Formats: sequence, structure tokens, C-alpha cells
Amino acid sequence: MRITTLLVGLALLLAACRPIPAPAVAMVGAPGVGDPIFPLLGNGGYDVQHYTLDLTVDVARNLLKGTATLRATATQPLAAFNLDLLGLEVSTISVDGAPAHFTRSGQELTITPGAPLATGAIFTTTVAYAGEPTPLADPDLAFIDQGWNHQDGAIYVVSEPGGAMTWYPVNNHPTDKATYTLRVTVDKPNVVAANGVLTEEIDLGEQRTYVWEMAQPMASYLTTLVIGDFVRVEEPGPDGVLIRHYFPPDEVETLTRIFANTDEMVAFYSDLIAPYPFAEYGVVMLPFPLGFALETQTLSVFGPEMAMEGVNAHELAHQWFGDTVTLAAWDQTWLNEGFATYLQRMWLEDKLGRGFMDGGMRQYYAGLKGFKVAAPGRVTEAELFSEAVYERGAWVLHALRLEIGDALFREFLRTYYARYKNDVVTTADFIATANEVSGQDLTEFLNAWLYDAEMPPIPE
Ligand SMILES: [Zn+2]
Repeated sequence: MRITTLLVGLALLLAACRPIPAPAVAMVGAPGVGDPIFPLLGNGGYDVQHYTLDLTVDVARNLLKGTATLRATATQPLAAFNLDLLGLEVSTISVDGAPAHFTRSGQELTITPGAPLATGAIFTTTVAYAGEPTPLADPDLAFIDQGWNHQDGAIYVVSEPGGAMTWYPVNNHPTDKATYTLRVTVDKPNVVAANGVLTEEIDLGEQRTYVWEMAQPMASYLTTLVIGDFVRVEEPGPDGVLIRHYFPPDEVETLTRIFANTDEMVAFYSDLIAPYPFAEYGVVMLPFPLGFALETQTLSVFGPEMAMEGVNAHELAHQWFGDTVTLAAWDQTWLNEGFATYLQRMWLEDKLGRGFMDGGMRQYYAGLKGFKVAAPGRVTEAELFSEAVYERGAWVLHALRLEIGDALFREFLRTYYARYKNDVVTTADFIATANEVSGQDLTEFLNAWLYDAEMPPIPE
């Protein structure tokens, strides 16, 4: 994610031997994964492999009617388990085709299958639901209405960190990535853009169904759906990657020009880190201000005020770091934002030279010290998208580069990505990889950059 105001503000800157009787009933899955900031996000006891969302959307009235089918594996005996779903009316739920009992409390949807599930069971849950989706408003994250939004005849979804549960039942935490099929039916002439590859368009007369497939694992906060008046603009990209954007009709020319070098950026990061992880990439430009851009997988959502090269490079860099290698806990957003911020500058450094990078980072250093910006390693909810994670986060990487040299730093980026691709990471994983690649114990050095209130001196 990249937020407008920040750009402006910091441009300047396990008993005894007696046998234990087996429990009479199977266990109940936990209502959350225990995230340090959002303890109720996600759920315990199972792992989702695939979501199929069949949705019919009345765009003008902002009404959603849907069936969500989740294929999952039980990781413990389950007499009951939870999904996260906020608002909307649930009509029926079945597990493996048999009716299931359910109750709701806040964002927790508790499902009791007809028969308990055994550890390792692969099961299918089908939820039929409908209603008018409402975004999640969180005072600590006032800049974003998380999830499903309806504005000026268009619908868009921006869910970081918790909004996915506003439009489908989900195991809503990055630690449970899954693949997705999205089938969305809308009235013509609305156009539907979503994550992955558009595999089918089915003409139903007055309506059209769009089928989108996301074949690689995706964290729920990175799912998106945008419906409205858009033109699809395509061009072939490097190594068979298709570049495809969705632009408002009257902005196609201008935006095509602004985003013209997206293919070069894909080639640059592919060379620096690893091949681009998905079949397609592009942005969807909303026709009204949003105040930020979000790295929704394969299709970043932009507000028009964010239509600039630096932000394009930032959201694209997130496709590797953020989307493919994803934070394991929400108090470590620097693992997403510090990387995207630094890699955005590496794109510019490639054009403008190392002096641009070193000089720019020194200027930021002075500004961060002056404004006493908090340490990035473990942030509070209010700091999730603050300069602590963007700029001090980027400085963790610059300091590492200065300490171990350019060649080892590049090897670090490639090793860290290859090791944690399609998985989640913690700051401890980051430090362990840096130590291994460099052959040095950098723990104390990196801890100072990550956790000390005062920024350490710049390495010479
Ligand atoms: Zn970002």
C-alpha cells in the first residue's frame, strides 16, 4: 500500500504416565489465529486450499447474492469451526453436501457440521448469503474503508488488513493463503476486473458473467473485485507476462502513457529478484480519488492521484514482497512496506545512479531522526501504515546493503524470496536469512535498526 499524505509529508522527508481418556467430543476450531494486533482475524483448526465465489451483483443498488464454496483440510478434529463474515444474511450452509447448523456473533460465523471432521479430512463448505455489503471502518485506520465499497455507480474492494470478510466468508488472515475462482454476474455494460486471469466471459443477454482464476496462493487481504465502466488495455510483457490495465474510458490515453513502462519494471524486478510470480499484471484505476494505491494480487487498485511512476514501481514490487512473500503477523508490516519502498527506489536507482539512492536515503535519515519516527520492527495498529514501516523499514534494508555490500545484498534478496515464496515470513526469518547469506552474525546490528527508538548511525 502507498498512502498519499505520507508521500507528501516525507517527500521532505505438552503429563504423568496415567493414560488420558480420549475426549468424548471432537474439538472446536479457535475463533482467531492469535494475531498480535487482530486476534480474531482468521480461525484455527483448518487450512483452506480453494475458494469458489459465485456472485451476482446489482451494481446500481449495491446488492450482492452469493454462494461461497471453500475446500479445506482439517488440521485437528473439528466438531465445529469458524469463518469470518461481517454483515450480510446467511441463508444456508452445508458441509460435504449435508446441512450444517450455524450461529453468528460479530465477525465470527460458527459452523457445526452434521458429523465431526477428523484430522486430515478434506471437506467442502458451501455458504449461501446475500445483502448489501458495508465496508469495515476502523478509527485506527481512518484512511481506508476496508473491503467492499460502492461509490458513484462503481464497486471496488480494498481489504488491507481485514476487509475481505465484508463480501465473502473467509479464513481472514495471511497465514492461510489459498487459490480462488471468482464468477461474477453483472448487468451490462458493467465490466468486472479481479485477481488473476480472466478465463471466460459468458453472455446472458442482459447480463454477463466474468470468470477469474487466481492459480497461485493469495492472502485474503489481497483479493479484489472492481465493477464499473472500464476499458481493458493490454500489451505483451516480458517472458510471456501479459500486462493488462483497467482504465476509465476518458483517461485511457493519459494513463496508457503514465503506465507505459510497466513492462520494463516487470523485467527489472524479475532480473533483480526472480521471475514475476503470476501470469498477468496491471492496475485498475478508479474514476474517483481513493487516497492510496493497494497491491491487490496481479491487479493493483489505484486512485487517480496515485498515478505516478514511483507508486507503480512500489505496488509492482509488492507482487514479490507482500503478495508472494507475505507478513505472518500484522505487527510486522515493515516486511511488506519496507521492501516495497526500498525496491521502488532501486528501480529509480537503476536509471539515476547509486548517488541518487545514497543521497536520498541520507535525506530521509535526517528527516526520520528529526521527526523521531518510531522503530519499524514491531508496530501498533495506528503505525501499521506509518513512516515507521515505510521509511525506517526501507532503512533496515539500506543499512543491511551498506553493511554487507551490494553483491551479498542482491544475493540476500534472491535467497529470501526463493525460500519464502508462496509462504509467510517473520522478522526472525529475515534476520536468519541475512545472517546465512552474509556468513556473519548480524542479529545485533539488525535488531538496532528494527527495534531501537533512536536510529543507529549510518554504516560507513
Ligand atoms: Zn506498500
